[in-house]
Amino acid sequence: MSANVVVLGGGVGGSTVATELRGLLPSGSHITLVERSSRFVLGASLLRVIVGERQPEDIARPVATLSRRGIEVIHGEVKQVDPAGRRVVVDDRELRADYLVVALGADLDTSPIPGLAESGHSFYTLEGAVALRDALARFERKRLVVLTAAPAYKCPAAPYEAAMLLDWVLRRRGIREKVALDMYAAEPAPMGVAGPKVSAAIRDLLAAKRIAYHPDHQVLRADAAQRRIEFSNGVQTSHDLLAFVAPHRAPRVLRESGLLGESGWIPVDRGTLRTRFDRVWAVGDVTGIPLKMGKPLPKAATFAAGEASVVALSIASEMTGRAPAGPYSAMGECWVETGDGVAAHGHGDFFGDPVPVVALEAPTIGAHRAKEDWERDWLTRWA
Ligand SMILES: Cc1cc2nc3c(=O)[nH]c(=O)nc-3n(C[C@H](O)[C@H](O)[C@H](O)COP(=O)(O)OP(=O)(O)OC[C@H]3O[C@@H](n4cnc5c(N)ncnc54)[C@H](O)[C@@H]3O)c2cc1C
Repeated sequence: MSANVVVLGGGVGGSTVATELRGLLPSGSHITLVERSSRFVLGASLLRVIVGERQPEDIARPVATLSRRGIEVIHGEVKQVDPAGRRVVVDDRELRADYLVVALGADLDTSPIPGLAESGHSFYTLEGAVALRDALARFERKRLVVLTAAPAYKCPAAPYEAAMLLDWVLRRRGIREKVALDMYAAEPAPMGVAGPKVSAAIRDLLAAKRIAYHPDHQVLRADAAQRRIEFSNGVQTSHDLLAFVAPHRAPRVLRESGLLGESGWIPVDRGTLRTRFDRVWAVGDVTGIPLKMGKPLPKAATFAAGEASVVALSIASEMTGRAPAGPYSAMGECWVETGDGVAAHGHGDFFGDPVPVVALEAPTIGAHRAKEDWERDWLTRWA
């Protein structure tokens, strides 16, 4: 049967759906992937750019290579999405889909916090990670602050990894004793969805590295000229260098689409990743999947990829009659870099009932190497 599958977004989730589906469908079926950026940048490797272990070109690959796998790649901006009609506008071109997958990720949006963008480095972007690396090389002053500007963001480990890696850079440069390193977090605890044991383990790691941790601090505004940040609890702090995670929002193009739910993200059936629209799926950071504990499933590549595999099988099953996909299970893993060439392996069942069942092992060289292998795999699998 020939049909037209359109995948919006060529990041972890979209590229995985498109490539896995290509392997499952007969050649007559058409798969189109739409992506505005010419290159895929692996988020996890941004931290290695900050500490100088990787150059920007090491952690990016061209999206266009997917076309060698029989996928039509359209380099363009999705301007409109009509899920009921499965109709999409890309720049000035209209696409119609028999099967539509939305994998547009999350936008980073500093606009709710006046002064934040001008005050520091948004290290969740490649440009911000490079700027932080360069600022760090020049840094001699006293106060380095890592800030999460909203309580929920992709990869809940990453800001904590960043703080520990910054400590490591300062020690390597021999200036750690001259620097006060503080982390202000909007959330009440590190990696809260993973449970109190994991949170406590991360807090212990921060304390051992003399990183002062200030949870439950929601930034209200920042003053770039005075290098000051003000929090909703009345606390103010100063900094000489600021590294921050910007608030996340669903991509602008989806705000008028009717796809978003009350959470501000796309609600999906957590087992099938179907949206409320017929033959429209969503995967990855753009989804909002509530857990029984009351918090949403974290946004991470480990989940985007697993969801994508279920969606690829599900579409193939509808088109070819092959066995349907099993429900998505949210088994996830990550490696928390703690500096000094070691990392802590975290893994568990995030659909655990009534709460996720997650363990964080002690940091080892082996886990650090496993993370490097995982990153290498993502950066070479579509070359
Ligand atoms: C610093 C950092 C460290 C991280 N570490 C880890 C880790 O160790 N482990 C882990 O599992 N996850 C990690 N993550 C999270 C992981 O990168 C994301 O969760 C994952 O990329 C989500 O995949 P996605 O496909 O949903 O979104 P993305 O990979 O962000 O892809 C979305 C794509 O949609 C495109 N797009 C958006 N809007 C439009 C539009 N209008 N038109 C066209 N294209 C558009 C974007 O350009 C983008 O390429 C990390 C992230 C960061 C920033």
